[in-house]
Amino acid sequence: TKTHHFPYKNNYTFLSLSSSNKPSSRWAHMSTPSVVRRHRKIIVIMGPTGCGKSKLSVDLASRFFPSSEIINSDKIQVYRGLDITTNKISLPERKNVRHHLLGDFDSSDSHPEFTPSDFRSSASSVISQILSRRRLPFIVGGSNSFIYALLAKKFNPELDVFSESNAGEDSVFCKELRYSCCFLWVDVSLPVLNQYLVKRVDDMLESGMLEELAEYFENGGSDSVSKCGLKKAIGVPELERYFQTYNKNNGKEWRMDDDDDEDEEKRVAYEEAVRAIKDNTCQLAKRQLGKILRLRDGAGWDLKRVDSTASLRAAMEGGGRRMADIWERQVVEPSVKIVKQFLME
Ligand code: ATP
Repeated sequence: TKTHHFPYKNNYTFLSLSSSNKPSSRWAHMSTPSVVRRHRKIIVIMGPTGCGKSKLSVDLASRFFPSSEIINSDKIQVYRGLDITTNKISLPERKNVRHHLLGDFDSSDSHPEFTPSDFRSSASSVISQILSRRRLPFIVGGSNSFIYALLAKKFNPELDVFSESNAGEDSVFCKELRYSCCFLWVDVSLPVLNQYLVKRVDDMLESGMLEELAEYFENGGSDSVSKCGLKKAIGVPELERYFQTYNKNNGKEWRMDDDDDEDEEKRVAYEEAVRAIKDNTCQLAKRQLGKILRLRDGAGWDLKRVDSTASLRAAMEGGGRRMADIWERQVVEPSVKIVKQFLME
């Protein structure tokens, strides 16, 4: 078994499987049966940021259902750029599984933002292409507003079904879906996830997030149209003031060095920004979980739950073989069963 070390997921790298652990599914190495195409079957992997959605989708797609392609449904990851800051899955982690709508979109004057309606039309056309290739589409990403926009038979772009004012109002949801969907929900205990996310931010900072953001701000930051869509990515607003003060033009170094202990103001500004990034990431996860529960309880989506809490805990305790085993047993195997069952229905 070998461990891949990726630049920004050092401590949480999941072990790849040993060669003895080969796919045993009867779907493996087969093109997707025509029933998938006829019934417009798709797999939707849901869950808050950090729960392991991307990893699960690639594990399923590459090992058990090799005729699969993945469509990203994270509204920030659709934009080109800030790969570390937005936590896009890296190329080696994609394990040759084809990904769509991931880092493809550039903002322009006429089209600054990629909206839920854009996602609905782009993703449905990608799904048609994937199905026509006799392959199985996986929708994977944390933006539940995008997932709802794509799947609802009737979608009203003017209506935010998740807004506070619609809380508890189940009739806002269109309950009919455009596809036959298998919903996999990667659930995780929030306190454990929060601990993991705080550590993930430190890892991302160590792996080049600051360098990436320094370059983003040097090139005009959110003032430049091409960066427009990314301006809401967690890390950009939080570090904006820091980079406005500490930059080359001001002759002030933005990097934090040990000598910066003397520059109290700089250290405080930096630490405040990092704390805000951590808080906002945890808030995002909590809101995402709330939306998933709304889709289950309000829209009536039949979510099949798998639990990645133990594997996340193991990841924080050093990862390695133990974590890989827990991940495999508690997340991948139950998911494989669910998907197989769905494909046979
Ligand atoms: P929704 O399901 O409503 O589309 P979401 O879960 O994708 O939402 P928001 O609640 O809109 O996300 O996001 C909260 C904040 O987190 C926003 O500022 C958003 O831009 C930011 N954010 C969301 N996803 C990412 C990401 N992958 N990387 C960085 N920031 C993100």
